[in-house]
Amino acid sequence: MSRIFEITEKIKSYDPDANINLINRAYVFAAQAHAEQHRQSGELYINHPLGVANILASLKLDVDTIATGLLHDTVEDTHVTLEDIRARFGDDVGHLVDGVTKIGKIQFQSSEHKQAENFRKMLLATAKDIRVLLVKLADRLHNMRTLGFVPRRKQVSTSNETMQIYAPLAHRLGIHWIKQEMDDIAFSYLEPEAYQEVLGKLRGNLTFLDKTRSQIEVLLQEALQREKLDATIYGRMKHLFSIHEKIKRKHVDFDQLYDLVAFRVIVKDTAECYHALGIIHSLYPPVPGRFKDYIALPKPNGYQSLQTTVIGPGSHRIEVQIRTQAMHQYAEDGVAAHWIYKSDGVTGEKKKNQQLREFRWLKQLTEMIQDTSNPTEFMENVRLDLFVQEVYVFSRDGDIFALPRGSTPLDFAYAVHTDVGNHCVGVRVNGQLTDFETRLHQGDQVEVLTGPEQTPSLQWLKYIKTPRARQSVRQYFRRQERDMSIRMGASVLDTILDAKPSEKMIKSFKCKDYKQLCEKVGRGDIPVDELISTLGQQRSGPFQLHHAKSAIMYPATCCYPLPGDQVMGALVKGKGMVIHDRYCNTLQQQHENTWMEVEWKPEEGVNFCTAIEIVTKNRRGMLGDISGTIASQKSDIEDLRIEQKAGQMTTLTVLLEVESRKHLADVIRCVRQLEGVERVKRLNHSGLVLKHFHQGVGHMLKGVMDASLHLLQTNRKKNNDSST
Ligand code: MN
Repeated sequence: MSRIFEITEKIKSYDPDANINLINRAYVFAAQAHAEQHRQSGELYINHPLGVANILASLKLDVDTIATGLLHDTVEDTHVTLEDIRARFGDDVGHLVDGVTKIGKIQFQSSEHKQAENFRKMLLATAKDIRVLLVKLADRLHNMRTLGFVPRRKQVSTSNETMQIYAPLAHRLGIHWIKQEMDDIAFSYLEPEAYQEVLGKLRGNLTFLDKTRSQIEVLLQEALQREKLDATIYGRMKHLFSIHEKIKRKHVDFDQLYDLVAFRVIVKDTAECYHALGIIHSLYPPVPGRFKDYIALPKPNGYQSLQTTVIGPGSHRIEVQIRTQAMHQYAEDGVAAHWIYKSDGVTGEKKKNQQLREFRWLKQLTEMIQDTSNPTEFMENVRLDLFVQEVYVFSRDGDIFALPRGSTPLDFAYAVHTDVGNHCVGVRVNGQLTDFETRLHQGDQVEVLTGPEQTPSLQWLKYIKTPRARQSVRQYFRRQERDMSIRMGASVLDTILDAKPSEKMIKSFKCKDYKQLCEKVGRGDIPVDELISTLGQQRSGPFQLHHAKSAIMYPATCCYPLPGDQVMGALVKGKGMVIHDRYCNTLQQQHENTWMEVEWKPEEGVNFCTAIEIVTKNRRGMLGDISGTIASQKSDIEDLRIEQKAGQMTTLTVLLEVESRKHLADVIRCVRQLEGVERVKRLNHSGLVLKHFHQGVGHMLKGVMDASLHLLQTNRKKNNDSST
């Protein structure tokens, strides 16, 4: 059991100027807040926060972190509020307690390996300050130490979680001893028999191992001293779980494991590390393939050492790690080593900078702060989330999904399943109905609402961030387009032929079946005149195509026809049905045989481009009046050209979006009523429109394509309705 004065003494030993008063106040406050509570062991609850604080003090952390250890459960478990903590202990402690409380609420619910990795990343991302994670690790370590008092089921689930989440996290942060202790305790609960076996054998061999250890310690020490190398050497028993793993991995017996003791050789500097290695290798033959230079190439968590295995005295294989004091500190305490104060032997900003640089997964960060004069201060506010490129969100069932930053609910829906995405009608984020533009944040819980009638909209592409979702939406429209082409082709064939085409006819167009023939005709890949001449039929004048409204129809960008106009359809290779004004010049140049009379009905909310010409007197505010009037009729101006005429007159050519011929008529009527407007007329002969807008055509074309795809979507719904 930890006592508060032990903790304060420990702090003073590495930071004589520490604000011990803060620690004492936090202790008194926490003890009062938890006064009524007991742990499952029956002891007072405060023993847990004390235990956590003691672990944090062992890591030589700053007083804010240790105070947070004392206070970490107050907001979650007692009447204390975050405001209370802030008011009494300042913003820093408040911020840390808040962080610990928040990540405490994230529940790990799946035991899948991939989920575990995501969960660890999520903890890293959510705990904006790295000290929050350190408190969380200390919290978990203390809970593991006192796990004996909880029910068996809880022991197993907590041990599993520790093994999958917290031990790897400790490893990632480079705090080796916490990882090992967590591993061993979890091992003892998860595989009690195996644990007892390893423990028993280790105990049985303890005397022998101990003797071997001190022998080798002395031998190494002497060898190095002969070469005038001042070194600290000590052998350390491997931790139980790693022995167990090794037995399993190598399929060997305990008795065959000679490297149960690992030796650490600590020397002054890097040069001495290599020197010591040379001495040891000349004394005992190294085992080939076992030497690793983690000084030149540090491990991702920042670990540095030279590692080798040699055939030692008595033909025992012995593992040796050679490192400097700083590397040793780092290997033991990992990221926590950054908070070590004056007594750690590392002085000066330069050395600290160097130490930081060794910490590879914070490398990006270090590069940013190389110019900063006080990296310690910066480290205290490390925002880990800046370096995580993903957001981790939960489904309603607690599954974790990793999405790129900036992802939206639709990205999530498509990540769950393409069908979920395609039928998404809405989303709840953390229980609240939310729109599709909302960006998802770390730890959000997202629930997708679906409806069988719902289909994707092109608008969605604006909100989508992930390639997967984008591809799914595009694919949906491509499939629609194909279905539409088939329907269109069927209509055309139906009109031309009295009966279904024979197999021979189908083959003569290089199609494998009727469906493919329809598709090719519908797409315009087989020109209608070719179709007619092959079929040996003669017709003159346009066809009547009755069901064409259900097909893909692209309004031509030469004459800008509108639903309700007298229009003609022409099948264009690779494009499908292009709709022209009946009197369009472009259409006149094509063969009459390829024209089709089509019905084209307006759809609410689906707009098309068209052009009008307005002749008006010059007066102040005229342009504003015109655009205001057009807008008031729920029409959008897409493009505008102004031409000054003689005699105070101006000609405006306006490209605007309307639903139909009737809608346009309403717009024109209102513009005519404006003071000073002399004449308004529609431009629906290609030559006139092109004269004014030839530059804007590319831009317009895109708008038209989008509009026609909208049409597609609406049509599909209708077809579905009529077929049921
Ligand atoms: Mn706790």
